[in-house]
Amino acid sequence: MAVIINAKIPLLKKGYHRMTLPFGNQKLGDDDYLHKGIDLTGKTDVSGGYDDILAFADGEIITAGYLSDTGYWVRIRHTNGIITRYMHMKKGSIKVKVGDNVKKGQVIGSMGSTGNSTNRHLHFDISYPGNVVLKHGGFYVSSQNVTYVDPIPYVTGEKSIATSTATSKYTTGKYKVVKDVNVRTGPGTKYPRVMYKGFTANAKEQIKKLGGNPKDNDFPKGMVLTLKVFDQDENGAWWGECPTGWVFIKGYLVKT
Ligand SMILES: [Zn+2]
Repeated sequence: MAVIINAKIPLLKKGYHRMTLPFGNQKLGDDDYLHKGIDLTGKTDVSGGYDDILAFADGEIITAGYLSDTGYWVRIRHTNGIITRYMHMKKGSIKVKVGDNVKKGQVIGSMGSTGNSTNRHLHFDISYPGNVVLKHGGFYVSSQNVTYVDPIPYVTGEKSIATSTATSKYTTGKYKVVKDVNVRTGPGTKYPRVMYKGFTANAKEQIKKLGGNPKDNDFPKGMVLTLKVFDQDENGAWWGECPTGWVFIKGYLVKT
């Protein structure tokens, strides 16, 4: 599945980029494989085909180097411990070093095809700190101590990593459900409800552990959820992210 991103995006210097691989579970051969970010290609007539890669937000460089799978890559740590990663960069193109503070939009290197890559592209991903469960269109896969999120709402400006948790009046912890609450794929009623059908075995296990309704994954009154990430909908109302999706807080959840 290829999705066109038809506007300039705050990751690559020139406009018009094509997403060649989305975030989430992919079927590659016999195995499910979790793609932790998005792959983007650029126009070959831009900068000789090596479009410049931009820092997605202000932050500190915590990696600038090479690994056999990532190729030449950079990691930036932002507000709240959120980390963005940029992989497969062109050899010799990295313009930052560990410890540098970078500004949003600053050139950090150029698109390449180093490491585990067959075509020139940028792999970009965003992760939140914390051992929670990955989320993508109803599929959830546990990971080690970080949660990767679909970068698209951030790339399109729908969400901001700078404000996603910094201004939250809610804090990480256990919340008791005081009124039956729906679970949705994102922070707002415009996002579809998370339904049990189609979940991976791992996700089913997670929902059972949480005591959720096996049919529609609503959370009944009396359940206790751990919320770690908070975000506001377009009306300014707060939602919390639990291991299987997002829930509306006010009137439905009370911190324990
Ligand atoms: Zn990738």
